[in-house]
Order: sequence, then C-alpha cells, then structure tokens
Amino acid sequence: MLVSATEMLNKAVSGKYAVGQFNINNLEWTKAILQTAQENNSPVILGVSEGAGKYMTGFKTVSAMVSAMIEEMGITVPVALHLDHGSYDGAKKCIEAGFSSIMFDGSHYPIEENIAKTKELVEICHSKGISLEAEVGSIGGEEDGVVGAGEVADPNECKMIADLGIDFLAAGIGNIHGKYPENWKGLDFDALAATKEKIGDLPLVLHGGTGIPADMIQKAISLGVAKINVNTECQLYFQEATRKYIEAGKDLEGKGFDPRKLLAPGFEAIKVIVKEKMELFGSINKA
Ligand SMILES: [Zn+2]
Repeated sequence: MLVSATEMLNKAVSGKYAVGQFNINNLEWTKAILQTAQENNSPVILGVSEGAGKYMTGFKTVSAMVSAMIEEMGITVPVALHLDHGSYDGAKKCIEAGFSSIMFDGSHYPIEENIAKTKELVEICHSKGISLEAEVGSIGGEEDGVVGAGEVADPNECKMIADLGIDFLAAGIGNIHGKYPENWKGLDFDALAATKEKIGDLPLVLHGGTGIPADMIQKAISLGVAKINVNTECQLYFQEATRKYIEAGKDLEGKGFDPRKLLAPGFEAIKVIVKEKMELFGSINKA
C-alpha cells in the first residue's frame, strides 16, 4: 500500500538521515527501485515528473502499476508515489489518480500566487491523507522543459510557505538539476542554515542530487535536509550499462535480443546506484 511521505520524512529529520526520491520512467525502473528498497529495508519515494507521467500514458497508469507492483512483489517498506515539480493542474490530476504525495512547484509564480495556490492544494491533499511539497526559489538547470535559474531561496518567503501547513519544503540553495557544471560554487550552507532557523523541524528537500559531493550531502542532512531527489544519476547508470552490453555484441549472441536480457544490465545498474545513495543518505534499515 502506498503511504504519504510525511511520516517517513519526519522520522528522517529526527533520525538525521534522508530518504531518497528516485524518479521512475517505466516498469524496469520502478521494479529496480522497489526491489532495492525492500532488500535494504529502506523507505523510498518514487518520483514522477509530468513528462514521465505522460510517457507512461498517464498518471492513472503509473498509480495502478506502482500499487500493483507493491502487492505482487510483496513490498513491505514504506513507499510514497510522488508527483515531481507538479503544475497546479497536474497536482489535481495526480490527487485524482491515487498518488500519495504531491509536489506543487509554484516557484515561477510571484510569491503571493505561489502562496494562494499552495494553500488551496494543502487543504485538498490533507483531506485525502496526501503529503504536499512546496518550492521556494527555483532550482537551477532544466527538468522536463522547466528551466530554473538556480537562485537561493529567501528564508522569509520559505517561512511564509512553511506556515501554510505544507509537509516538506524544497528551497533552492544553489543546487541544479542534471549534471553540475565545472565552475559550480557548491551548496550555499549559510542559506540552508538561515532557512532551517526560520522553519524549524519541517523537512527540507534537496533537488538535483546527482553529482553533489558526498561530504556536501552529509552536511546538508545535518542541517535538516530529509529528502534528496535523484534522477539523472539513474539515467546515466542505465545508459552506461546498456551501452556496454551492446558494444560487447551481447545482443547479437543467442537470444541476447530478448528485451528481458537487453534491459537487464541497465536494471542491475539502477539497483547499484540506488543502494549506494541509500547508504550515503543513511536510510538503510530505517523502514
Ligand atoms: Zn527538482
């Protein structure tokens, strides 16, 4: 059964670890992440961007697939199905479709409009036991056509959004989606500490987890980050393993063309990186 992400993240804040959000794209991705979470007794959040939802034919398909997989695979660790960077309309669709957690990304609106829309969605989500993540200060890089400038969130605006009763907050602290550029200045820990001071124990979310050095991740967790989003890194691991299989000519040997064989190295590679992240975030045996 799907659960909201509220309880797992509140536990993470008090236990000083973080729960990974791993974005899914298809059945193989979902199966690899669920299996790894179960094997390591870790809570997990499955992230679905609007683009990925569309790719999988719609949010209803995603919700039905994930719920059925949890049952068929005998998954007992807490699993949240979370809309990533949702629009106002997308959020409503996912609430309908049975998602257990929603991110409403109103960071591109003026703060008053972000507040009004976030407030409305908090009420709808909480009436259905769904958790809500809000965002202040856009996150750099590009994700599914949404381009953010990588600003640092204003701690006062974070406090205004936090006071709406949201369950966790994504605040830009110099983090970027996708691969980090050579000249990246690193996370802004002063901004993180200032935000933490304003919002207290509300769990903070770190987007763009791919390529942030381990010591920065650990420092961020010590300062109140309880959810870390990983997307690009799984894609890169899948791509590299698939490339190796084909370059080695394995698809030309015997039944190597069978999709279940062709996709297997990528599947195993996702399991490797997800486990590595769970170790780094400290979520193993925290289910
Ligand atoms: Zn993000």
